[in-house]
Amino acid sequence: MTYDPTNIFAKILKGELPCHKVFENDTALVMMDIFPQSRGHTLVIPKAASRNLLDADPADLAVVIPLVQRVAKAVQTATKADGLRVAQFNEAPAGQTVFHLHFHIIPAYEGVAMGAHATGRADDEELAQLAKHIAAAL
Ligand code: 5GP
Repeated sequence: MTYDPTNIFAKILKGELPCHKVFENDTALVMMDIFPQSRGHTLVIPKAASRNLLDADPADLAVVIPLVQRVAKAVQTATKADGLRVAQFNEAPAGQTVFHLHFHIIPAYEGVAMGAHATGRADDEELAQLAKHIAAAL
């Protein structure tokens, strides 16, 4: 499997499509998932091109994993979640739907079932507010 540079996250990284941005630096973009599995579902997307974990450069992973931790803490602070799921899927049979490496940070709330993967579009105003709150907690 090769990397397809026309995937939707590549377009967002190039600024060709909009997103609710939380944070950006030279190596990664952090944004809200528009089909969240729970309130505050956030994606950390390395800028380096790879389909997923399997073809990623370990040097890029070494930079992005500390950011995943930092964002996870900020999501927890901003959402007051009772727990967090950090997920990453490799190829379609494993659930991957966008073929540019990314890490899901999905808040878990006591007594609230997590939604299904990649369904149910969230309200843009709510996503904008969440992005602002998470950015403030970084
Ligand atoms: P995967 O299934 O590849 O692990 O995750 C892709 C994620 O991207 C899904 O959780 C899905 O909801 C999200 N997603 C799909 N299209 C878009 C989009 O255009 N913008 C944003 N922000 N998220 C998207």
